[in-house]
Amino acid sequence: MAESGVLPTRAILCEVREVTHEFTLPNGRPLRVLENISLTIHSGEVVALLGPSGCGKSTLLRILAGLIRPTHGLTLYHDQALQGLNPGAAIVFQSFALYPWLTVRENVRVVLTAAGLAARAAEEKAERAIRRVGLSGFEGTYPRELSGGMKQRVGMARALSVDPEILFLDEPFSQVDALTAESLRAEIIDLWAAAHGHPASVLMVSHDIAEVVYMADRIVILGANPGCVRTIVENHLPRPRDYRSPEFLHLVDRLHDIITGHELPDQPPPVEPGSITYEPLPPVESAEIVGLLEYLDARRGKEELFRIASDTHREFGHVLNIVEAAELLNFVDTPRRMVVLDTEGQNFLKATPEARKAIWCEQLLKLRLFREAQAILQKEPDHTLDRDHVLEMIVLHMPQENYETIFRTLVRWARFGNLFNYDEATERLMLPLESTP
Ligand code: ADP
Ligand code: MG
Repeated sequence: MAESGVLPTRAILCEVREVTHEFTLPNGRPLRVLENISLTIHSGEVVALLGPSGCGKSTLLRILAGLIRPTHGLTLYHDQALQGLNPGAAIVFQSFALYPWLTVRENVRVVLTAAGLAARAAEEKAERAIRRVGLSGFEGTYPRELSGGMKQRVGMARALSVDPEILFLDEPFSQVDALTAESLRAEIIDLWAAAHGHPASVLMVSHDIAEVVYMADRIVILGANPGCVRTIVENHLPRPRDYRSPEFLHLVDRLHDIITGHELPDQPPPVEPGSITYEPLPPVESAEIVGLLEYLDARRGKEELFRIASDTHREFGHVLNIVEAAELLNFVDTPRRMVVLDTEGQNFLKATPEARKAIWCEQLLKLRLFREAQAILQKEPDHTLDRDHVLEMIVLHMPQENYETIFRTLVRWARFGNLFNYDEATERLMLPLESTP
């Protein structure tokens, strides 16, 4: 093996080179979810992909596993272009993906026999994998009798039973309670660190900063729309890692700053007079925005962004969306990592239901998309507006956004304030009767 200085260069197990991926939407248009991603995974390391929900983490993991062939670029395993599945990888899925009618033993064995192993060999490998994840004694149990954490142990046993060189974990603990997740993380690190070699490397997907600081040697921070590598942070903290040590918390803060510094700008970009920019609407429900305001009110008007996500058991990316939406409507402010209720937000909370609607509409009409839709509705003789017309407005001014999603959000927010309505049958926006001029 080549040496550079005193450190041996570790072999590259798996690699993507300049990968771009587009899905085709039902209307035939391409949706670009990953753009120009290059990434290597070396033998012996734990790599984490960290990013907001929808940024393409699962897609990238599936490309590396050979489940998806990227639109552009190369996927390599041991320097060979991948044809079909990655022969060295096994995946632990978020959803467990267990067969309810099979026992623990059968759930593990089924992937081995599907891989072509003879019954006897499959039996032995399954037993061994079940032992490795601490499920001995539960071989004959059915999934419905197991807790979430135990189910995920079966998922791990399955993945480990094929003795993979690289273990892929796609948000494996998001359906498991916090304490169990903590012990499963430690166990995975123990399995990986055990001397006998496999899995040599781990690639995990997560939106939980503390989780990746606990587990990973390298943290790949992804940006969204389309997914891209923003930066890679090395993590040299000694193992076993302590969630409460100052060094650990310091790295959590640093990652947090990197992520929010980008996702949650302190200042909105300056709007030039007469500019044609529209504000993309984050895909959240009006009720979620009101919920955030009430949550903040119950905490004296402010809370840390991070804390909100863990308190509400929401994906960090989704909480960011809710906060961005509330900020767009001037209900909150976001000085570094804090979310603070604004005067307008306080007024909203104090108001009667009717007055709330009025405040809501007033804020909506500060947004260009609502203002223009409203203006057209008032001008049209029948006070209606075709859906396609609005979609075109969105596509023209925000070509990089998902216009269907923005349209849905537009309709929901407008309905909440009774600003205008949408008739699914005729596919037309319309003014509510009492406000037709
Ligand atoms: P993440 O794992 O980061 O949440 P995903 O990789 O699951 O993100 O998805 C990235 C984007 O690609 C999302 O906008 C998602 O809706 C879209 N997407 C994922 N799979 C498909 C598919 N099979 N067809 C169309 N769009 C998809
Ligand atoms: Mg995912």
